[in-house]
Amino acid sequence: MGKLLEMAASIVESQAMSSSLGTDEVVESLRRVFDVIRELNTVECGEQPETATVQAQPAQAEKVSPVESIRDDHVVCLECGRQLTQVTANHLKSHGLTPREYKKKWGFRLRDSLACRNLQRSRSEAAKKRGIPDNLKRYLEKRRKN
Ligand SMILES: [Zn+2]
Repeated sequence: MGKLLEMAASIVESQAMSSSLGTDEVVESLRRVFDVIRELNTVECGEQPETATVQAQPAQAEKVSPVESIRDDHVVCLECGRQLTQVTANHLKSHGLTPREYKKKWGFRLRDSLACRNLQRSRSEAAKKRGIPDNLKRYLEKRRKN
């Protein structure tokens, strides 16, 4: 500490010489310089100042890439790490995102589905059962005629 005081004193001394500081100002300046030096000294000794230790790492339940987040029986919400059958617009609302923003943020393509694979599969089967190929055939016939 004696060495620090000496450093602070010499800094303020040179400051006092170069400008016209009053006694009170010199004391105040000395105090400030001393605080800074003490802080620097603390960092050097490996003792982090309080502000640095407060910064905690954001709690990430599971680090998952967009591709890995789509699984057979569930999808992982990349915002909160929850396992869902589908990342819905309603769920994303709780994160303040739209599906479009979510996809953009995490590097999905806009046409990518946010449903688990099983759900995607059963949906395309249901679509077939609803007769989309038939509709398509009819549409193509109609277009040929025109
Ligand atoms: Zn979520």
